[in-house]
Amino acid sequence: MRKIDCPITQDLLLLDALRLSPSSAAQQAAPYFDAIALRYSAYELSSGDPWAVLPDTGFLPVKEQLKSLYSTPPVVLSFISDLRDSLRGACPVCGRDALGTLDHYLPKSLYSEFSFFSKNLVPCCDRCNNKRNALVRGAGIGERPLHPYFDNFAVNRILSVQFEPDWRAPKITPIPFDVAGQELATVRWHIENVIRPAGIDEYLVDLWGTMVSELKQIFPEVSTIDDLKGEILQYERYERVVSQSPNSWRSAYYHGLGRNDEVITYLYGLLI
Ligand SMILES: [Zn+2]
Repeated sequence: MRKIDCPITQDLLLLDALRLSPSSAAQQAAPYFDAIALRYSAYELSSGDPWAVLPDTGFLPVKEQLKSLYSTPPVVLSFISDLRDSLRGACPVCGRDALGTLDHYLPKSLYSEFSFFSKNLVPCCDRCNNKRNALVRGAGIGERPLHPYFDNFAVNRILSVQFEPDWRAPKITPIPFDVAGQELATVRWHIENVIRPAGIDEYLVDLWGTMVSELKQIFPEVSTIDDLKGEILQYERYERVVSQSPNSWRSAYYHGLGRNDEVITYLYGLLI
């Protein structure tokens, strides 16, 4: 999970340009472009919130054509490949340290009219694209995925990691941090339906295992518990900067570790 800038693509101008495209999919879908322009406005007004933008079956007759304009885009839609390669750092959708594809925030299987709408296309990693829960929202208010373009509160730390004993094999859990109300419902839903399916639990266990087995190499200069805590906080800061988000998996890991005196005491005991 990572807040990123919204693309500056002129989507309405692209619809106009598509009317002139020789692409047969564009020609077949063109009679629907005015209706699609209205859907773009509705999306922007509600920041793509799936509680406000409900699926519209009116686009079913050209669903396949709209999807194919994304999967095999004509020259007019060359922004799609540019957007796919536009980022470095953590995946904006899940926070893993990988990128390389695009996610449809509102999936094109339900919302074909947003198949090539720039504000619905988010650079992400392959796991998000393949393993994200197909649900677009939960049962309670606010239960939906975080939108990396519109959820400004995600610029702050909203993800941490909880460590619980037995310290020899601790329970390590991704948890919301410093959010309340509807935003808390959103972060909770996002963790369960997007981040955990992307594999954060196994990732954190691996990170712990590597850290414990290489402890003396990772923290060679430590002589007090406060030294160790200081180094862990430095790792958290480093990961936050490199991944360009406080909510990358590794930054959240060190954040949770640095706030837990019991686990730091355990690690210090292994070091000395
Ligand atoms: Zn991802």
